[in-house]
Amino acid sequence: MSAKIIDGKLIAAKVQEEVRLGVAKMKAEKDYVPGLATVRVGQNPASATYVRMKQKMCEKLGLRSIGRELPETATQEEVMTLVKALNADPEVNGILVQLPLPNHIDEEAVLGSIDIEKDVDGFHPVNIGRLAMKGRDPLFVPCTPAGCMRLLKESGVQISGAEAVIVGRSNIVGLPMAMLLQKANATVTICHSRTRDLVEHVRNADIVVAAIGRTEMITGDMLKPGATVIDVGINQKDDDTRPRGYRLVGDVDFDSAKEVAGAITPVPGGVGPMTIAMLMENTLRAAEIAVNK
Ligand code: NDP
Repeated sequence: MSAKIIDGKLIAAKVQEEVRLGVAKMKAEKDYVPGLATVRVGQNPASATYVRMKQKMCEKLGLRSIGRELPETATQEEVMTLVKALNADPEVNGILVQLPLPNHIDEEAVLGSIDIEKDVDGFHPVNIGRLAMKGRDPLFVPCTPAGCMRLLKESGVQISGAEAVIVGRSNIVGLPMAMLLQKANATVTICHSRTRDLVEHVRNADIVVAAIGRTEMITGDMLKPGATVIDVGINQKDDDTRPRGYRLVGDVDFDSAKEVAGAITPVPGGVGPMTIAMLMENTLRAAEIAVNK
């Protein structure tokens, strides 16, 4: 058996088109263009790439992009002052502070200082708290887990009642993913580096989400036949045939997993494209909240 491939590029393109149309409508009807502010502190090259990708996507879909950069030496007060200014700026609907921040900056304090109505990354403690609570909904859901949920829904995967195993419990992926699946009525197990028998848990799962950061750790022989596999991981694997000397692979061994799974996301081209698409969707929603106030 070979699994159905869940095409993240295709589904992300659909989300992008919905956002593009929503932005055009807002411009035509309200004479208002949604704006996303990106805050980058220091010169981390990966952060620079991610911020550039987000700015380009804003341009593509018709959103305004406001780039703010501070030097590596910026103080806590300077970062917080910038966030406060963006909170007060009516042209800014979403504020994205690119992580990681330099070590001397208190990330929790910075993320907590973002106006929750502009918290398009969904990392504000109030938004995470609402996500965790029964009968409450956050204003914004963190983009990568939101993208995973969209992939599952667009692929027609039965979530309610399913056994779901999430490997990884980070604040940005594993934990919110677990909360979302639980909200969607899956029975959720969270595995992590101290889990005693990972294979046993994974083998019971109808839905497996791998957010570990370990190259091809989940293999086909660990999966229940027919399981849906969402691979969040992005890892570099040595490959002399590539100009860069490596290729990108996931936390799942795609070749063996696709022979057992019922559906699986590839890397690249699975979860990756969804993250930015969901950020754009969150920013449009933030603008809708602002214009309807
Ligand atoms: P973190 O390093 O923050 O978290 C990794 C999690 O995996 C931790 O909870 C850790 O457990 C767990 N873990 C580590 N080793 C093992 C193991 N041997 N067995 C079981 N669990 C283990 O990573 P992130 O959540 O930030 O990212 C995960 C992956 O997703 C990375 O490859 C990252 O690049 C990718 N990513 C992709 C995105 C996308 O847009 N596609 C966006 C964000 C991340 P413990 O808590 O016990 O330490």
